[in-house]
Amino acid sequence: MMNESVYEKNRELQRKLDHLLKQARANEKKQQLYETLGFEIIGASTPTQLRELLLTQIIIRLQLLDVVLCLVDYDKDTQRMFFEHDEETRLGLENKLLILDTQKHADLIRSLPVTPLLGVEALKRYPWITANLETKNQIKSTALLPLVRSRRITGALMLLSHNPHRYQADIGTLFLQKLSAMAAVAIENCLNQQRIKEASYQDALTQAYNRRYFDLRFKDEIARCMRWDDDLTCMFLDVDHFKNINDTYGHQTGDLVLKHMVNLIKEQVRSCDIVARYGGEEFVIVLPSTALQAAREIAERLRQAIYSSPVTFCDQQLHATVSIGMTSLKDLHTVQHDVACICSMLLDRADKALYIAKENGRNQVALFINPITSA
Ligand code: GH3
Ligand code: MG
Ligand code: MG
Repeated sequence: MMNESVYEKNRELQRKLDHLLKQARANEKKQQLYETLGFEIIGASTPTQLRELLLTQIIIRLQLLDVVLCLVDYDKDTQRMFFEHDEETRLGLENKLLILDTQKHADLIRSLPVTPLLGVEALKRYPWITANLETKNQIKSTALLPLVRSRRITGALMLLSHNPHRYQADIGTLFLQKLSAMAAVAIENCLNQQRIKEASYQDALTQAYNRRYFDLRFKDEIARCMRWDDDLTCMFLDVDHFKNINDTYGHQTGDLVLKHMVNLIKEQVRSCDIVARYGGEEFVIVLPSTALQAAREIAERLRQAIYSSPVTFCDQQLHATVSIGMTSLKDLHTVQHDVACICSMLLDRADKALYIAKENGRNQVALFINPITSA
């Protein structure tokens, strides 16, 4: 009798021990999984790699239902840095990558947690995070992990599971915390690297893009518009009698005019448009997915904005004017598919149209259509 109960107790202990060992092995495996992913995230050097790891690989590797990444846009450049003007990708990820504006979303940002929040609590407290997810009705538990850098909340990473037991309020959060700390560092590094890259693509005086960047982006945009059978308009904008401005008011005032002009141009175009300094006082503006007639209205608006916004310096007001020549991809009517060749044809035609605008008296817009007509 006695022996039997000792034997039974031993078996019970053995069962418990086996269970604990199994759990320990499972935990070790889980920790390895999280650590491997964390190291890959830290190693990501481009926004594309980071997006792939944080929004796709994380789901596969951790067997999640879905994931949402919220980023606080402190420098008003997160979207640009993360997507490099790739609107298609941005729209495709709109529900999973939420970029929070420090003014518009100030309340949401203030409400973000500073420590991990596990269970279903986050779904109730932060319904806006999952609001547009296709998977939202299948969510059974979540881990909302704050992203913090230098004691400042930079966003949150929300892991979503269809398993109600996956994320419970009382489970250990150490590897989740490690993962989110690595993600926060990786995001900051990636944004900073992009900022450095962007600075090398900018013209130091005007902050317009430089020629190097233009040459790269122009080809990409043409290829993309051709793929989607979309139009694209290319404009050359040149300051009228700029030499006179320099000669009359000095070179520094000339510089002020160029800076002022780029600010005005940027106000009139979309963030996906390219504004680049092509040379001295000549700028090239590319409007992807925009046909010539719509672009003509934009060019006209631009011309008028510049004409009616003088540069103010030393209590003086200086009215500068510009001439604009433009042409569009569809108007090329070409069977040519070589992008480099199309680039040079567009630039050549926009330049010819600019010449016509100058010839016809300046301060005007001219279109290149066959034959060239003045707008
Ligand atoms: P048009 O109406 O025919 O375009 O006449 P323009 O005087 O504007 O053209 P022109 O090509 O004769 O002169 C352009 C001047 O722009 C000459 C050059 O010294 C000046 N320039 C080029 N780059 C800069 C710059 O960065 N700063 C300043 N202040 N001037 C510049
Ligand atoms: Mg000029
Ligand atoms: Mg010129």
